[in-house]
Amino acid sequence: KNIILQVDRLKQYFPVKKDSIFKPKAYVKAVDDISFELFEGETLSIVGESGCGKSTTGRAILRLDEPTDGKVLYMGKNILTLNKKDMRKLRGDLQVIFQDPFASLNPRQMVKQILNEAMAIQNVVEKSRRKERMLELLGYVGLPPEALDRYPHEFSGGQRQRIGIARALAVNPKLIICDEAVSALDVSIQAQILNLLKKLQKQFKLTFLFISHDLSVVRHISDRVMVMYLGKVVEIAEKKEMFDSPLHPYTKALLSSIPVPDPTLKRDRVILKGDVPSPIDPPGGCRFHTRCPFAVEKCKQEEPPLRELVNNHFVSCHIAETLPV
Ligand code: SF4
Ligand code: MG
Repeated sequence: KNIILQVDRLKQYFPVKKDSIFKPKAYVKAVDDISFELFEGETLSIVGESGCGKSTTGRAILRLDEPTDGKVLYMGKNILTLNKKDMRKLRGDLQVIFQDPFASLNPRQMVKQILNEAMAIQNVVEKSRRKERMLELLGYVGLPPEALDRYPHEFSGGQRQRIGIARALAVNPKLIICDEAVSALDVSIQAQILNLLKKLQKQFKLTFLFISHDLSVVRHISDRVMVMYLGKVVEIAEKKEMFDSPLHPYTKALLSSIPVPDPTLKRDRVILKGDVPSPIDPPGGCRFHTRCPFAVEKCKQEEPPLRELVNNHFVSCHIAETLPV
């Protein structure tokens, strides 16, 4: 399998403004030293509760916010050191689809202007061929040709997301980051959009980094799943392995809260105590120790490394192999 994107020790710290007089060096450690890779053509999902750093990771990869530290290698090249011009070129390869396409689609532009602008910025299609290409794009995402002369507000939420997808496709991307891309939609519409994304992935050999808090969506779309907690990666595995045999106590708690297709596989519900601690001053050792039902003394002292416990199944827990299934 080819690695298309490699994230190496990525950190994203945001300075805390209101505390600055008293604590000039207070930071929100939104993403704190994470590493993972994306294989060409796969869908890797990042899951975790809000504030775990999953969206921040996506934004840092795209340099929508400039990361604090680390490397992001796209096809072997560190994109964090690219100058503006080269970065702009690369934006054609790396696209993003957000939760609310309405917010990212200009309300005063008709669909044809939206698509035309995307193509013009990346200079992907000659002017004379753009109309034809727009109709082709609408076809890929299941919208009729008349859509070209309409404005975003004239469409339903699901249709707007199709426009967002068409705009991303317009520049021939290789990797698309989907940040809560279906979270605002009704469940039946969600399924349609997920199936569309899967179809397009096959058709255009796309790689997806799929950010979502919704585990049923993640189960539907992913090849592999990565779980984050308080700015750290706690577990990475292939989807089936993750859902059937999670190893990290936090993942077990997350998964125990969703309905399973086969009730004989239903695990006991794990209820976590307390709230997620502040990312400004996160707990030392294992970041999960303040809420973990299995924490031992070592967990407060030492940060558990992410280690491969079974084939391609990585977990960051000192005692994962001794925990009850
Ligand atoms: Fe729980 Fe310790 Fe494992 Fe962290 S390292 S998940 S605190 S048992
Ligand atoms: Mg988010």
